[in-house]
Amino acid sequence: CGIFAYLNFNVSRERRYILEVLFNGLRRLEYRGYDSAGISIDSCNCSGSDVNRQIVTPPLVFRQEGNIESLVKSVYHDVDATDLNLEESFSIHAGIAHTRWATHGEPAPRNSHPQTSDDGNEFVVVHNGVVTNYEVLKETLVRHGFTFESETDTEVIPKLAKFVFDKANEEGDPGVTFSQVVLEVMRHLEGAYALIFKSRHYPNELIACKRGSPLLLGVKELAEEASIGASFNDTKFLSSNGQPKELFLSSDANALVEHTKKVLVIEDGEVVHLKDGGVSILKFDQAKGNRGRTLSRPASVE
Ligand code: GLU
Repeated sequence: CGIFAYLNFNVSRERRYILEVLFNGLRRLEYRGYDSAGISIDSCNCSGSDVNRQIVTPPLVFRQEGNIESLVKSVYHDVDATDLNLEESFSIHAGIAHTRWATHGEPAPRNSHPQTSDDGNEFVVVHNGVVTNYEVLKETLVRHGFTFESETDTEVIPKLAKFVFDKANEEGDPGVTFSQVVLEVMRHLEGAYALIFKSRHYPNELIACKRGSPLLLGVKELAEEASIGASFNDTKFLSSNGQPKELFLSSDANALVEHTKKVLVIEDGEVVHLKDGGVSILKFDQAKGNRGRTLSRPASVE
């Protein structure tokens, strides 16, 4: 099983290209074992500052039992090509992908990932690992009105994210950030996980975090000025400099090497926030609850 994500920033990419990057990423992870696969991609072409949180359409989710080629086939053949906008160009687009090796719930479309928070896909998550305390979390969420569609341990994660997000908004904190939501979710999770989150509320952003399961970040800087003289060890790399970039997340370096050699191994307890072409890495600190710490440690070159 494995997880993969691709985000292009300030570089125009056609939907077909974005889909192929996601599918190829999954093909590279196939050897890890799988029984189902799925992806989530943007439904709207909303870039940068013109994004209005409230009007953004929900992420599209495709899930399929079986191998990656059956997912590919179902996306290209079953989905109306107009809905998929294969020739449309996106200057920012964030997509996530998953191959599943079932631990909780039989292989079936409803148990495949991405798992979602609700019909509106407010939060969608791909997960590699096992959430050991999912039953307790599920009971609590059911008491709060959530209905579950899958038998997976994973489904509690996007629902918990929605719960945390809604609660922050009800309590008058509409400015709650994507990483604050995820840090709060992590506080409740036990077990092993590598996770990638995508959300209708945070278009063009991705959050990844891990404990126990592997996760790597890959960065491809596309502007020549950015690559000349700016080494991967330059901490500027970790902030947004507006330069065109392609960012990747993967369970395995296998799926990154065809794109970039700039690979950072994410450590347990770290939360990676991809936003506006920038990468920030927060450290989850159990003792401090949901307060993250910004790391400025240099990235390593592989
Ligand atoms: N425990 C999750 C499930 O059964 C994730 C399995 C995996 O790592 O693929 O859906």
